[in-house]
Amino acid sequence: MSIDAQQYRVQAEPYYQPQGREVALFEAAYRNRLPVMVKGPTGCGKSRFVEHMAWRLGKPLITVACNEDMTASDLVGRYLLEGGGTRWLDGPLTTAARIGAICYLDEIVEARQDTTVVIHPLTDHRRTLPLDKKGELIQAHPDFQLVISYNPGYQSLMKDLKQSTKQRFTAFDFDYPEAGLETTILCKESGLDAETAAKLVKIGHAARNLKGHGLDEGISTRLMVYAAQLIRDGVDAGDACRMALVRPITDDADIRQTLDHAIDVTF
Ligand code: ADP
Repeated sequence: MSIDAQQYRVQAEPYYQPQGREVALFEAAYRNRLPVMVKGPTGCGKSRFVEHMAWRLGKPLITVACNEDMTASDLVGRYLLEGGGTRWLDGPLTTAARIGAICYLDEIVEARQDTTVVIHPLTDHRRTLPLDKKGELIQAHPDFQLVISYNPGYQSLMKDLKQSTKQRFTAFDFDYPEAGLETTILCKESGLDAETAAKLVKIGHAARNLKGHGLDEGISTRLMVYAAQLIRDGVDAGDACRMALVRPITDDADIRQTLDHAIDVTF
């Protein structure tokens, strides 16, 4: 059965504001088909970067949001009952290996370790994927590349990647962009004016300083984009900030009060 790779193409250029030399370095990793791990807190631009790179390299992109219920079959494929018989259905990893896509496993650490190990033979010189149930060994397409994202903040003894998995990847450290870049991102993503966007960034930074002092993670760039979109749509800035920046991240009354205060003095 032939697969239409066209459906996985990133059609229009995803806007991506580089923070350093990551674009050129990713291109070098891709030239050598090295597996890449993108590390950083949630909502800081990891997925956008991968989408941008797939577009820039002109390769199809297959994204899988990993979760703890995911099994190896969800990645590799399974037999389905159909009519009187069975039919094999490729999983997303298999499809990517066949068509030469970039396969992006988002939040890989959410997946169980027995699921994660299926990627191992694809990440070394073998570049193979065994479909045990089907009795087939796939040789990955020359264009295939594996990319995973990983949030070190969620790291715990229960949930971490095995060293044997980590040591199969090159890695990029991502973080929230510095103030000037983040302001530019908010303006580009929402159409908001620079002055108001800079105020949002200021509030975001105040919240990020509370990380480890009652907040597990700071306010993500993603949430700041939400606030910018709401303000751009005519919502009162205070309401937008409370709704997009404060309420989603904490139920702690003291922290809410601190952040609400920062909003009131800024706007
Ligand atoms: P994650 O790190 O969780 O994968 P995303 O890549 O989905 O985060 O980023 C969340 C949102 O933040 C994006 O949809 C985009 O609006 C914005 N964003 C963050 N960083 C950038 C960046 N460097 N360039 C453009 N947009 C960005």
